Amino acid sequence: MNNPIPAELVALLERSNRILCISHINPDGDAYGSLLGMVWLLRTLGKQATPAMTDPLLSEFEFLPGATEIVDARHVGADYDLVICLDASSPDRMGDVFQPELHAALPLAVIDHHVTNTYFGDVNWVDPSCAATAQMLTYLVEALGAPTTGAIAECLLTGIITDTLSFRTSNTTPEVLEAAMRLQRAGADLSMIVQRTLNRMPFSALQLWSLVLPSVQLEDGVLWGVVTRDQLRDAGQPNDDSKLNSIFATIIEADISAVFTEKIGKNGQPAVECSFRAKPGFNVGDLAFAFGGGGHPPASGCTLEGPTDQVVARVVAALKETRRRQALDLD
Ligand code: 5GP
Ligand code: MN
Repeated sequence: MNNPIPAELVALLERSNRILCISHINPDGDAYGSLLGMVWLLRTLGKQATPAMTDPLLSEFEFLPGATEIVDARHVGADYDLVICLDASSPDRMGDVFQPELHAALPLAVIDHHVTNTYFGDVNWVDPSCAATAQMLTYLVEALGAPTTGAIAECLLTGIITDTLSFRTSNTTPEVLEAAMRLQRAGADLSMIVQRTLNRMPFSALQLWSLVLPSVQLEDGVLWGVVTRDQLRDAGQPNDDSKLNSIFATIIEADISAVFTEKIGKNGQPAVECSFRAKPGFNVGDLAFAFGGGGHPPASGCTLEGPTDQVVARVVAALKETRRRQALDLD
């Protein structure tokens, strides 16, 4: 941990009793793990805690204790004395569970590990040296002198395992392994978590690959593929959970890779969700931030409005330029 837990955060936690915990849109394992880990920590401390998320529960995270208690925007009230936002780098990532008319007057605590965090809370604990927000919470549990219960351990280890792709990313430091070891000792089942989250894909994902792979391109060290709405429909994949970028990121000839997924954006306009990966030594975090998104140097993303062809052409040109500059720096 590079950035210590702010004393204001500890004070805020101590004096609050009804706490709304929220996490980011398009949730991943760290969004679920840090959200629910925080909820169980607060309950262990004798507080009332409500988990809320904009998106419906993903089936691979149903096993997490408390997952079925997560409410959506329709069921988020106003009767809280603190909002804690986990693993979200900017306010737009909170989605519609944060309702300014209900919550703007409440203190907002932001806990996150994204280097692109915009410090949008009243109290911000941001530590990009941690591989997952769940890793930060392991330290918070210990600093508050709370027991690491089985529920806390399972949620937090899920966040660490999913954000590090099971201890394979370049930010898997000895501290990450130590935190994970303590969570495993506290009762979390590592192999079960890996099996339920990472080693799991529906057959429709394979069908989607078969539709997308023929048009994948590799130019100037940049590999990219486009997932159209028609392909998603034909493969029976309402949400793209095909983990295509994890495959792209293994390709030797590509320093940077991208998956572009067609979406219908806000106000019904065409939009493209862009997901980026970079090999060690390359950085796609700054580019995603410049496009209004965010993330980490090796994995980032953004959503851009506009026709697919135009968005892809513009972003691929920027990725090639980024890769060219960074390859020169490496020489
Ligand atoms: P993925 O490609 O797996 O969806 O996302 C990789 C990383 O980029 C994650 O850390 C995620 O939080 C971040 N990310 C992806 N899309 C967006 C976005 O639209 N905005 C921001 N701020 N971060 C994003
Ligand atoms: Mn995370």
